[in-house]
Amino acid sequence: MSISTETATASKPTTAFLASQHRLLIDGEWCEAASGKRFDVHNPATDEVIATVAEGDSEDINRAVAAARRSFESGPWSRTTPSERGRLLWKLADHLEEHLDEFAEIEALDNGKPRTVAAAADVPLAIDLFRYMAGWATKIEGTTIPISVPYMPGSEFHSYTLREPVGVVGQIIPWNFPLLMAAWKLGPALATGCTVVLKVAEETPLSGLRLGQLIGEAGFPPGTVNIITGFGETAGAALAAHPDVDKVAFTGSTEVGRLIVKAAGESNLKKISLELGGKSPNIILPDADLDAAIPGAANAIFFNHGQCCCAGSRLLVHRSQFDQVVEGVADAARGIRLGPGMHPETQMGPMVSRIQQDRVCGYLEAGKSEGATALTGGQRPEGSGYFVEPTVLVDTKPDMKVIQEEIFGPVVAAMPYDDVDQLAAIANDSIYGLAAAVWTRDISQAHRLARRIRAGSVWVNCYNVFDASLPFGGYKQSGWGREMGHEAIDLYTQTKAVTVQLS
Ligand code: NAP
Ligand code: MG
Repeated sequence: MSISTETATASKPTTAFLASQHRLLIDGEWCEAASGKRFDVHNPATDEVIATVAEGDSEDINRAVAAARRSFESGPWSRTTPSERGRLLWKLADHLEEHLDEFAEIEALDNGKPRTVAAAADVPLAIDLFRYMAGWATKIEGTTIPISVPYMPGSEFHSYTLREPVGVVGQIIPWNFPLLMAAWKLGPALATGCTVVLKVAEETPLSGLRLGQLIGEAGFPPGTVNIITGFGETAGAALAAHPDVDKVAFTGSTEVGRLIVKAAGESNLKKISLELGGKSPNIILPDADLDAAIPGAANAIFFNHGQCCCAGSRLLVHRSQFDQVVEGVADAARGIRLGPGMHPETQMGPMVSRIQQDRVCGYLEAGKSEGATALTGGQRPEGSGYFVEPTVLVDTKPDMKVIQEEIFGPVVAAMPYDDVDQLAAIANDSIYGLAAAVWTRDISQAHRLARRIRAGSVWVNCYNVFDASLPFGGYKQSGWGREMGHEAIDLYTQTKAVTVQLS
């Protein structure tokens, strides 16, 4: 498989942004890390250094949390009206839309994903999320509750609830959708009136920093959103353990999710929401339209190079159609054009980092040694950049690592099944429960399976369909809480019951 080395040149605004001095956003000011340290940011397609950013650590987290606390407790953010919060979020969406192409380029250069994909999916979804959450800012309501109080006969009360912001929120995001994950986190937090310290991923800090500039230009008051670049083990851990942070929202590995829970438990029992890993089953029933299901199965795993928490990484196909389907998916894989994200014809870029490339290749080795066969792919191609070939694994068994563990790369492990009645049990044979899909023409079977599968999202005759209004999150070890939709508002508010004695 060949790799295109041609990289279209970035536009002037992107080039200028990359060359600028990237610092931390604390209390509305761009500042160096207290330690003065910086680290390099690489283009994963070429291994070149494209920028250096400040290396924030616990001291910078302390400063950022103090700024967020001030903005929350004494204003200006806590004094901002819901309508003003909505207006600012909408304005931020407009600014993002004006700079859509620049953000797509930044994602392509920093994360490695195709610029065309970022321009069609990541950035528009982020814009839409901010607009959706702008609408919520004015619609966060409590209720009135008629109460009886049996031990106070004859008394009259007026009881009602207030939905109040949780307070200062720490947000820790991964590298697979850098801008979009920032939007999923910031949108509901700002709509509800929380203030934020956002720790972006060390591998992909750039779109978060550019978004920080737009947040300032849109007019969000200083201290409302603070953005820290730095490492998980220092800056991230300090945020999770901080005694003055009221809540942490995290997206990333299940392993780090556990560390966040531990840090919260050992500090101030802060609230936590987690969006973690997955090993999502993609089920093709014998009556499915294979002309849709086969390209659908390829998209389910190969979109974003398989670096999706909800990737359709376990492909379950009836034995009678198994060879036809896996050959079809393998053909689709062979046709994918690998290359740098900036090249207009690239369909799949590199893994985000050398570590991630090694990790995925480690799973390919493990699969081979356990007896799985790569129908196509299975290698890292020659040349620079952290590429991995799109791979279809067959001859798999339920207890293999490639069936049980999240690979987070362009590797689908296919397994035949014999009995449709066993499908829910096979699909649920995982510690994860993030997503699943069912391909069928039988509407009853589709709904029956949708109920039986223990996962936060189930797609029927489609995959990777996201919308700002649809809740997203995990069953089992895939997480706690739901992002997007109105459920995201619940993650950032708490309920207060107020009771007034009238007589
Ligand atoms: P990760 O280590 O879980 O990183 C996610 C975020 O958590 C990053 O911002 C990271 O900072 C931060 N972090 C790391 N250690 C921390 C700690 N001790 N305390 C607080 N924050 C911490 O994920 P990764 O290393 O990027 O990838 C490893 C695996 O995680 C992947 O192969 C994949 O299986 C899974 N993953 C899942 C998702 C998802 O969407 N659910 C996304 C990414 C990765 P640094 O960037 O500085 O490390
Ligand atoms: Mg990490």
